Amino acid sequence: MKKDVLNKNKKRDFSSMFLIVFAALFAAIVAHSFWTNGASDGKNPINGLVSTVTKPVELSFSDVLRRAPEIQTMKIRDNHATGVLQDGTKYNAVIVYTPEFLEKFSKNGTVISIDTSKTWVDYLGTWVPILMGVFFIWWIFRGMRGGAGGISRTLMGQNPTKIVTGKPKTTFKDVAGIDSEKQELAEVVDFLKDKRKFQAVGARVPRGVLLSGEPGTGKTLLARAIAGEANVPFFAASGSDFSGIIVGLGVAKIKEIFEMAKRNAPCLLFIDEIDAIGQRRSQNSFNDQDREQTLNQLLIEMDGFSNETGIIVIGATNRPDMLDQALLRPGRFDRQVHIDLPDLSGRKAILDLHAKKIKMEPNVDLMNLARGTTGFSGADLENLLNESALHAVRVGHKQVASDDIEEARDKIIMGPRKVRKMRPEDIKLTAYHEAGHAFTSNAFDGLTDPIHKATIIPRGRALGMVQHLPIDDKVSMSIAEVRANLIIALAGRAAEEVFFGRDKITTGAESDIEMATRLARRSITMAGLSDKIGLVSVNQVQTFGARVPLETASEKTAEIVDAEIKSWIDKAYGEAVKMLRTNKETVKKLAEELLARETLTGDEIKEIIGGKKKKGIKTAKKPTSAKKKNNNARS
Ligand code: ADP
Ligand code: ZN
Repeated sequence: MKKDVLNKNKKRDFSSMFLIVFAALFAAIVAHSFWTNGASDGKNPINGLVSTVTKPVELSFSDVLRRAPEIQTMKIRDNHATGVLQDGTKYNAVIVYTPEFLEKFSKNGTVISIDTSKTWVDYLGTWVPILMGVFFIWWIFRGMRGGAGGISRTLMGQNPTKIVTGKPKTTFKDVAGIDSEKQELAEVVDFLKDKRKFQAVGARVPRGVLLSGEPGTGKTLLARAIAGEANVPFFAASGSDFSGIIVGLGVAKIKEIFEMAKRNAPCLLFIDEIDAIGQRRSQNSFNDQDREQTLNQLLIEMDGFSNETGIIVIGATNRPDMLDQALLRPGRFDRQVHIDLPDLSGRKAILDLHAKKIKMEPNVDLMNLARGTTGFSGADLENLLNESALHAVRVGHKQVASDDIEEARDKIIMGPRKVRKMRPEDIKLTAYHEAGHAFTSNAFDGLTDPIHKATIIPRGRALGMVQHLPIDDKVSMSIAEVRANLIIALAGRAAEEVFFGRDKITTGAESDIEMATRLARRSITMAGLSDKIGLVSVNQVQTFGARVPLETASEKTAEIVDAEIKSWIDKAYGEAVKMLRTNKETVKKLAEELLARETLTGDEIKEIIGGKKKKGIKTAKKPTSAKKKNNNARS
């Protein structure tokens, strides 16, 4: 207490001294500027007075140019010109001065002076940031004089972290689709509820739990739910809060938050983005040293409290591989729970949960939506429903309808609709291209993923698209399915060739070709689906996004791989052309319907084709490729 008062006094002394210096500096600068200003203008305050008596005329730039011969003198500062005309009238003008402009006037014999000196406003521009810097440094020093906690108090204010006061109302009911993870953490809830039960048996409960998983998978939500279930306070901070420009800040903050937790035990302390502090040590840079100190402080705190304390620390990260091993030792974050992106049933459960919050038409099929959202996180799904609701409002629906959801999903996956002006012949070509995909896709119905819809509405980089909807989350593909998917992917280009001729084909098939090449390459080099390569993995090594070409293969093998990919692709393309040629009328009908209606659903496509199936196609039930569509669109 007393110490505090003392410090305050000291601080005040220091600050008043500083303010005086600050004010003096400021005054000096302003005075200096006025002085330079006056001097360079070549006029003193009295001149200024005179000029206010005879009001100058305002000339426009064109006036200046037109009346050039009349202009006797001209003073230019930036794009302002002042001076007198031959008849003695003063003038003001806004001008644009270029070498040509100057030449024109000097030819006329006008006396031109150009003022490049700085005004005091200019001085402010250069000095204010410097002064602010000085002030900031002083501010920090002021804090430091307050003793150990001083810096933190100054920079953090009273609330060092975003503290959720009270107990969260979130419970496990608000977390959907990750039941096994919830079960795994039920024990932590029990411990927070009643630690004596555990102590009685001598059971050791983890002090720290590390939740890993991609952003939006519900790590924060789960941590809150644990606190809510146990009915204990929840403290949250983010790892990035602990790293700052000031050395020692992180340590102080860690101390502070743990102190707070101890005072409120039993409680849950949540540290998001823990990798920001707990990253594996790399070079010995300045920043690293500070982070290491922060990390050490965290470890000290975690080692410091025993089971008696009743604090559980939950850390969250999406890069568990980046963490320092010291963090993961027993007594620290010794329980790790990984949260995967939700699978089909998880997505359905999450959609069901969030759909309760919005008004929705009863015929909306959330299972269908779950099927079409492979790769979406819980947060993505919530966002999708929210976007749908926003769309519903925008178009004046009373309830969220299927088409609102459809629109929101396409917007998220493919980007917003383009109001791109396309030439009619390009639209026509796009329709045939998509009809090619749709027709072949339908022909392989039962083997590959069913069609969700085909559209020629441009979105993102795509001029149109055919979307598929997997029946469930797929993990593998049969060789027949790979071949079918290659044919479907290349059928867009094939349709361009069949209906418009070889010399009319476009670059629009770029992503189709990329996708087909990738599928063929993986099948051949990794999945052992090619007889020429056999069951040998000649996988490319992927290091941080950069591919090292065929590291594990000899040059000869690499050549065989290339040839094999080309042969698969050529064969699939030939097959696609053949299929479209023999069904030209049907494909044309599809394309024309697309042109007329822009979007066709899977069922409508079936109807137009007439339920006819190509002969000789075995039916298996294995799906994919909405995934591929999703991934394509999301990347
Ligand atoms: P993370 O911390 O993993 O980045 P969050 O917990 O912040 O993710 O998730 C953001 C939001 O997404 C949550 O508030 C919640 O509304 C929604 N969400 C994510 N996962 C789920 C889930 N499993 N069940 C219900 N909602 C979820
Ligand atoms: Zn295509």
